[in-house]
Amino acid sequence: MKVPLLDLTAQYASIRGDIEDALAAVVASQRFILGPEVEACEEAVADYAGCRHGIGVSSGTDALLVTLMAEGIGPGDEVVTTPYSFFATAGSVARVGATPVFADIDPVTLNVDPGRIAACVTARTRAVIPVHIFGQMAEMAPIMEIAESHGLVVIEDAAQAIGATHGGRRAGSVGHYGCLSFFPSKNLGCFGDGGMVVTNDAGRANRVRALRVHGEAVEYRHGVVGGNFRLDALQAAVVRAKLPHLDGWSDARRANAARYGRLLGDFAHEHPRRLRLPATVTDRHVFNQYVVRVANRDLVRERLAAAGIGTAIYYPVPLHLQECFSGLGYAAGDLPESERAAELALALPVYPELADTRIEYVAGVLRAALAGL
Ligand SMILES: *Cc1c(COP(=O)(O)O)cnc(C)c1O
Repeated sequence: MKVPLLDLTAQYASIRGDIEDALAAVVASQRFILGPEVEACEEAVADYAGCRHGIGVSSGTDALLVTLMAEGIGPGDEVVTTPYSFFATAGSVARVGATPVFADIDPVTLNVDPGRIAACVTARTRAVIPVHIFGQMAEMAPIMEIAESHGLVVIEDAAQAIGATHGGRRAGSVGHYGCLSFFPSKNLGCFGDGGMVVTNDAGRANRVRALRVHGEAVEYRHGVVGGNFRLDALQAAVVRAKLPHLDGWSDARRANAARYGRLLGDFAHEHPRRLRLPATVTDRHVFNQYVVRVANRDLVRERLAAAGIGTAIYYPVPLHLQECFSGLGYAAGDLPESERAAELALALPVYPELADTRIEYVAGVLRAALAGL
């Protein structure tokens, strides 16, 4: 049996007609840059995310970059974030000339630990970027409290978490900005690169909208220097055609995760040092990834690969130990929870179309590999 980590062809087969019609309509209109398709997509996604404004951008990375630009964050400023994330989270901070400051994660959820954020705040701190890692929201209530008491901007990196909820709030709608990604492997993926900034603040939305087109709020008048950060109409059409299916897909991911829990829970309970399953502590985890922590990860991963099972390591090197950030002065051992997660984490297939028999197969091979350690 072959079980890939992700199979996008299965999803495409189920919605092919709708997507082809949506793409054909854009092609017939010959309106590829911004315009009505992008606006309709912005309205639909912002509404879904529980926000008044959506600004389609060229990627999740550019969503982070443009929100930092909109706040005028730059050299001399510090931004507190998690070291256990995709590179873009901290890379965007460095790209505007600011300094990323890393707060260690909570070992249960792998999300940034709010208590450690507070300890990182200095007079130079301007913003906090919590990441909703693997599809589960970070603890936003204490993060917003810390931010409010220090006058900080909160930019949610919700690239992996569209549709996740906690306490009646949706990922991306709690902070001052939410950054979404439509990278193909995300829960709502387009056919290339794409992303969106969502916000409830009209002033912030206007600033981001201008920065997306070279800082041009009025035609050929540049109040600030922006860039070309536009979402294109073909990608917007794909996103809009897929959006009505998103809740069903996320429910299927959640059901797959629950199945793994039933198949592996007893083993994890008996052998906590060999296997740790993801913990759900929020109302709706959307499982962009199903990440377990295993002893002897490389060996276990080889056993799974030999059995035809695709896995991935998110993330092998925490951000504070990346070569490009060596000038920040962090050393191995500084952020032990992130370093431990980076050593043990292994993502298993969890995509919505994954059949139950395959989940059973993956769980069986994993149990056998771990029992043989
Ligand atoms: C995917 C991702 C991004 C970047 O999104 P792109 O669309 O690939 O640029 C940022 N942060 C996190 C946590 C991500 O998973």
